[in-house]
Amino acid sequence: MSLADRPQPGRGANLLEHPRGAYVYVVRSRRSGGVSIGIDLTPAGACPLACDYCQVPRKERVTSIDRVELARLRIELTAAFAELVERGERAVDICFAGSGEPTWSPNFAAALEVAIDVAAGRVPVRVMTSGATLDWQRVRDPLNTLVERGVGEVWIKLDGWDEATIARFWASRGQARHEARVARFARTTPITLQILAAQRVHGPTVEETAHGLCGAVQRLLQDGAKIERVTLTTMHRPPGSADEHVSAYDDDTLETIATAIRAAGVEVKVAFSAPRPCVEASAPTATV
Ligand code: SF4
Repeated sequence: MSLADRPQPGRGANLLEHPRGAYVYVVRSRRSGGVSIGIDLTPAGACPLACDYCQVPRKERVTSIDRVELARLRIELTAAFAELVERGERAVDICFAGSGEPTWSPNFAAALEVAIDVAAGRVPVRVMTSGATLDWQRVRDPLNTLVERGVGEVWIKLDGWDEATIARFWASRGQARHEARVARFARTTPITLQILAAQRVHGPTVEETAHGLCGAVQRLLQDGAKIERVTLTTMHRPPGSADEHVSAYDDDTLETIATAIRAAGVEVKVAFSAPRPCVEASAPTATV
């Protein structure tokens, strides 16, 4: 099967018409707040986590991952930019996201360099990571450099606040361990925290969720993490491998949770189900 013909399950519900690439796709992104050029380094769904809300359809956990064909990545990225220009549209970012954990790729650092090179300062390069690999030098160093050079951002997942809640994503690793890893990274490199909140049958109440997430953010701040902002979202896509007992929060509930997290003293942007003028993403800059 050719690269372009492989399953590409995790690229969102708002894909724009675009020749399907092996690694690159174009999407109208709530998180980014506009047209985003996505990079999917894990088109087969390789991910160390097993989130109960995951919208990537997998029958079982995928852990094998191939090296990225860097020349192909460059060609696809360049073509995506050209096509948007032709259509009179403008990308707000290049975003490593897709169907799994992008930093798992053995040549992630080289792929990141390709993206920075093609972006050429026109848009920021964002890396969405679960945070699982932040202690790996081959991941940590290029991410540090991305931010230090002022050409991109690192967005790290924080969906739980205690052992019971992190078990929904990461059964084998603890909340304290995740927070410690995030804090170690973010003491020197400013980050965006990305939180996906969802409703669960017999799960915590909205108040418990809001309180718990605020507490986790506060602990990270007290531990020296530089948190530039928090983005809060919920499930916006049809279920993939998500647990049937997990469902999206409505916009009012998201706002309630956002208000609680703001009490920690951080900016919180909400990716509502329908765009609201006040939460459109900021204009892209080279120092996001
Ligand atoms: S939602 Fe969780 S399991 Fe699914 S791709 Fe993202 S980090 Fe992996």
